[in-house]
Amino acid sequence: MERIDTDVVIVGAGAAGLTAATKLVAAGKSVVVLEARDRVGGRLWTDTIEGAMLEIGGQWVSPDQDALIETLDDLGLETYSRYREGENVYISESGERRLFEGEIFPVPAKTEGEIVGLIEKLDELVAQIDPDQPWAHPKAKELDEISFAHWLETQTDDDEARLNIGMFIAGAMLTKPDHAFSALQALLMAASAGSFSNLVDADFILDKRVVGGLQQVPLGLAERLGDRVRLNQPVRTIRWAQPSDGRADAPGHGVVAMTDSLEVHADRVILAVPPILISRISYEPPLPRRQHQLHQHLSMGFVIKVHAVYETPFWRDSGLSGTAFSPYELVHEAYDNTNHDDPRGTLVGFVSDEEADGVFSLTPEERKAKILESLSHYYGEQALTPVVYYESDWGSEEWTRGAYAASFDMGGLARYGADLRAPVGPIHFACSDMAGKGYQHVDGAIRMGRLVAGTILEGR
Ligand code: FAD
Repeated sequence: MERIDTDVVIVGAGAAGLTAATKLVAAGKSVVVLEARDRVGGRLWTDTIEGAMLEIGGQWVSPDQDALIETLDDLGLETYSRYREGENVYISESGERRLFEGEIFPVPAKTEGEIVGLIEKLDELVAQIDPDQPWAHPKAKELDEISFAHWLETQTDDDEARLNIGMFIAGAMLTKPDHAFSALQALLMAASAGSFSNLVDADFILDKRVVGGLQQVPLGLAERLGDRVRLNQPVRTIRWAQPSDGRADAPGHGVVAMTDSLEVHADRVILAVPPILISRISYEPPLPRRQHQLHQHLSMGFVIKVHAVYETPFWRDSGLSGTAFSPYELVHEAYDNTNHDDPRGTLVGFVSDEEADGVFSLTPEERKAKILESLSHYYGEQALTPVVYYESDWGSEEWTRGAYAASFDMGGLARYGADLRAPVGPIHFACSDMAGKGYQHVDGAIRMGRLVAGTILEGR
């Protein structure tokens, strides 16, 4: 076992962990970042598959994400706008393909009225929610006891309106069926993006991409941190002690983080991992009861991000923006994801939660055929024959276990939310899945990294 002594040991080299490390180092602290994988970035992963550069994880930047935008500026990274000229496609329950512009889907007038009414109602409720403490809302408990699906039923009997509004939070964001999370959890998701209208507005929420890929953020931060970042070091055990109980087994230190080959002794540890992985580490002594309980009430959503690359962005020739939605399609949303300065055209589509379960019970060939068929409903026959096809499957990744992020089960947010980021002795927590603003996004990861580093620097 190699022994290292440092001020702060950070578990996880995703955007949150690397941001915390950067801030601590800037303030003169020594840090060691232990990363389980053979790469940094966690859920940010830009790779070249059969000659095509693909964003396997997170990629979009929206204009309100100022923590991420500051980091992009600091690293000298350039952004470009998602292609959005032309008409969008919507597919109705009967399979009719309808073209439209703007945010409101081409649905019957009554349904449109219901959708607009629901958006207004949700905007009103979201404006009352503080994303940093949704549990403080006077009706938090009540809103956390009703599923989002059920809440929508209390608002309208229009199925198509419910399905579409449900899709923006369920398939498109939390990537769980809308019966599996509460209305409060849905309001947090929208409040974290500023409003429900912002979530519905693809031009806002999926505004820009980074030239060369968003993984350059963690890669750039890690490069500056140099050999403080240690790859292939899954943390298995953390020994710790409350300051009042004396110290963990190393005199003068509060924690020891142990991997298969390293023992890092430090004053504090930051667990910058998805909260569902916190209980995968052993703690000596065990974490308090509250932690044992609360981590059982969080789970990852599940979505397949599908990449289809073509010789050209052929849909643009017929005046299509590439933006497509349907709550009735296997691929519930899809976009033009052509890389900056790339003559080829890329489509990205998403297959969420129970639909994803369904296609994973098929062979890879059957799954690909079904997914491409769904894309062809939006873009025509040419969509059936991409030159590169790839499915991001985060559910199979041991150090993530789902996508995009973790959320509470019914009742969990009001019951446990306030404790999610509360430190336990020398153990601190940071992750996008604990953020208020930027929740489940890279911006939130950076915010949480900054917050936890600030807390440690203030000696709290
Ligand atoms: P992670 O990135 O999960 O980092 C945690 C790190 O901890 C990982 O590197 C992991 O390997 C490591 N780790 C875990 N356990 C251990 C252990 N025991 N020991 C050592 N290391 C450990 N966000 C956006 O803003 N825009 C998008 O367009 C977007 N799209 C997305 C698409 C997909 C398919 C996915 C999966 C995510 C997307 N997101 C998007 C979400 C965004 O990627 C995440 O919110 C963010 O990257 C999370 O950063 P993090 O540092 O909090 O956690």
